[in-house]
Amino acid sequence: MERVVIVGAGLAGGRTVVELREQGYTGQITLIGAEPHLPYDRPPLSKAVLTGRTDSTQLPYGLHDLDGVELLLGRHATGLEPGAVHTDAGPVTYDALVIASGSAPIRLPGAPGQRVLRTIDDSLALRQALRPGARLVIVGAGWIGAEVATVAAKLGAEVTVVEGGGHPLAPLGREVGGHAVHWYEEAGVTLRVDAMVDKIGEDGLLLAGGEFVPADEIVVGVGARPDVGWLAGCGLVVERGVVVDEHLLAGWAPDTPGAPGAAPVLAVGDCAAWWSVRYGQRMRVEHWDTAQTAPAAAATTLLGLAAGRPVGDLPVYNPVPYFWSEQFGRMVQFAGLPADDAHLVFRGDPTARKEPDAKKAPGWSAGWFAPDGTLTALVTVARPIDMVAGRRLLAADARPDQAQFADPAVPLKALLEG
Ligand SMILES: Cc1cc2nc3c(=O)[nH]c(=O)nc-3n(C[C@H](O)[C@H](O)[C@H](O)COP(=O)(O)OP(=O)(O)OC[C@H]3O[C@@H](n4cnc5c(N)ncnc54)[C@H](O)[C@@H]3O)c2cc1C
Repeated sequence: MERVVIVGAGLAGGRTVVELREQGYTGQITLIGAEPHLPYDRPPLSKAVLTGRTDSTQLPYGLHDLDGVELLLGRHATGLEPGAVHTDAGPVTYDALVIASGSAPIRLPGAPGQRVLRTIDDSLALRQALRPGARLVIVGAGWIGAEVATVAAKLGAEVTVVEGGGHPLAPLGREVGGHAVHWYEEAGVTLRVDAMVDKIGEDGLLLAGGEFVPADEIVVGVGARPDVGWLAGCGLVVERGVVVDEHLLAGWAPDTPGAPGAAPVLAVGDCAAWWSVRYGQRMRVEHWDTAQTAPAAAATTLLGLAAGRPVGDLPVYNPVPYFWSEQFGRMVQFAGLPADDAHLVFRGDPTARKEPDAKKAPGWSAGWFAPDGTLTALVTVARPIDMVAGRRLLAADARPDQAQFADPAVPLKALLEG
């Protein structure tokens, strides 16, 4: 394996370089990245960068210093065939390919002036626009919408969040997301739920039903899609992300010329739809933790194959997904995958409000329990200690006593030990 090519110089791409080297790969690595920047972290873009606490989130490893790493930054992969990536600078051949092209934010139809928040450049530009008194309308009360609203309100902007669903934090469901409504109120942010956007204009947006909401700035935070358009029609199996197995190995459609015996292709991070042995289903998550940890598994797979190990002997990538968000003075963390027929058990009072002078918001958590008592997912709000033990309970498929779980005075750690 003389040359590994990585497409995408974000967290997952950057980590893949580091993992390959740390696991002993000494051949050439080519890292192709559409952005002109070295790999950097995105979570601070809606937090520390937006508040002005920092201007750079570059990852703390000097890829320039790593021997044999060729950086093709500001370059786009435009297509793929077995053994070669097509780029806007010509073809790049590979002995192994890791796809780490991430995801791209969804834009709404309408004015070109709408902002999204995905890159460091988006964040620095938005920061300039968050002036005191500026009317900022955010579309989407999800993770990024809430984080931008938090910062903008603190900086004195007049913030309205327009949400098409009935409550914030849609992925967590009404029973949990409904408890986030008062967070907006406390922060002086106007939250409009069940408000579908019909059209975005230059100076505001039109809601379905005809109401016009005026705005100086509009930020759209309605989610992202895997950035895999460049793979269209090449024969690699792509279905809402690059389809990979439990070793992160992708496959070619059977009639693809040159596919039999072709050099391995893997995918990691936001763009990878991996087979989860733990959950018995395909998973694709847009979480920092996945982009951070999958590259170690990808490097192990690649080096194992290069050493002639049979695929069946390779370790399985089998994480419990984990995500965090910082909004309205609360650290919100989520882990696991709620079973379809799970019921919720709360731990602490989700309706408790933050006193105006209080330093900390009241904390609470909630667990999704399957009918057989297995804890399948956990959300913690301003209770990070619960998440530390909670992730261990989830990884162990534990069935903690639900009455004890519901008592915030009982440390979750105690349930793990019991
Ligand atoms: C504002 C913001 C805040 C976030 N906050 C949190 C948080 O608090 N907690 C959390 O868990 N997660 C958070 N996330 C999500 C987390 O940052 C992502 O899951 C993570 O960045 C994914 O890393 P990645 O390397 O897979 O993809 P990306 O970070 O998207 O990197 C992919 C890179 O590939 C490049 N690329 C795409 N197509 C091509 C191509 N054809 N050729 C060459 N290069 C290409 C892209 O330009 C990009 O630089 C946040 C994301 C954003 C945007």
